[in-house]
Amino acid sequence: MVEAYNLVRAEVTAAGARLVAVTKQRPVSRLQELYAAGQRDFGENRADELVRKHAELPADVRWHFIGHLQRNKVKLIAPFVSLVHSGDSARLLRELNKQARANERTISVLLQFHVAAEQSKYGLDPATPLAVFDALPPADRTHLAIRGVMGMATFTEDEDQIRAEFTRLVDTFQTIRSSPHVDGEQFTELSMGMSGDYRIGLELGATLVRVGSALD
Ligand SMILES: *Cc1c(COP(=O)(O)O)cnc(C)c1O
Repeated sequence: MVEAYNLVRAEVTAAGARLVAVTKQRPVSRLQELYAAGQRDFGENRADELVRKHAELPADVRWHFIGHLQRNKVKLIAPFVSLVHSGDSARLLRELNKQARANERTISVLLQFHVAAEQSKYGLDPATPLAVFDALPPADRTHLAIRGVMGMATFTEDEDQIRAEFTRLVDTFQTIRSSPHVDGEQFTELSMGMSGDYRIGLELGATLVRVGSALD
């Protein structure tokens, strides 16, 4: 069944954004079905699962890592990952840089900011949007392309709250983009929106949405 997928993709495309189909815990047969329907961007949140699925899907799939990435798992995905959405600490980013260099490639990453009201161990603090660069001098990111930001809103029905949190992420994005730490031409991605809130994300300028259950 790809009807729900086709509807979501049409909506996302019409808004000028890109749909990352989140297929965590879905069987390979489901990814193949979406691939046949034209999907090329797939998101997973477990390194082992991503590696296993990568081996079974065609080579032109773009693999997105979403969700917290443990440093000891970086080497598993470093050879082929297309975009890591969850750059949530300088230590993780340094490890990504190291494994990118070992694979003689550049890895594209997003800086993940914690904008939700919910407690979370993960995500950079939007109160100090540039702090990560102090801990990550240019010599430590020779093999990283920092492409933008990612954030998750609180899981709530309250649209005003979601809007406020996404707006904070957009402000963070703009602050970094206009700073000397990144190349503004490369720093263009705003990964913002999941099944419950991707429409709000699109309204506020998301370039990437990560949608899973709404495709079922
Ligand atoms: C699971 C997940 C998604 C997709 O969630 P749905 O509600 O199923 O759309 C998006 N982003 C992250 C980081 C996730 O872990």
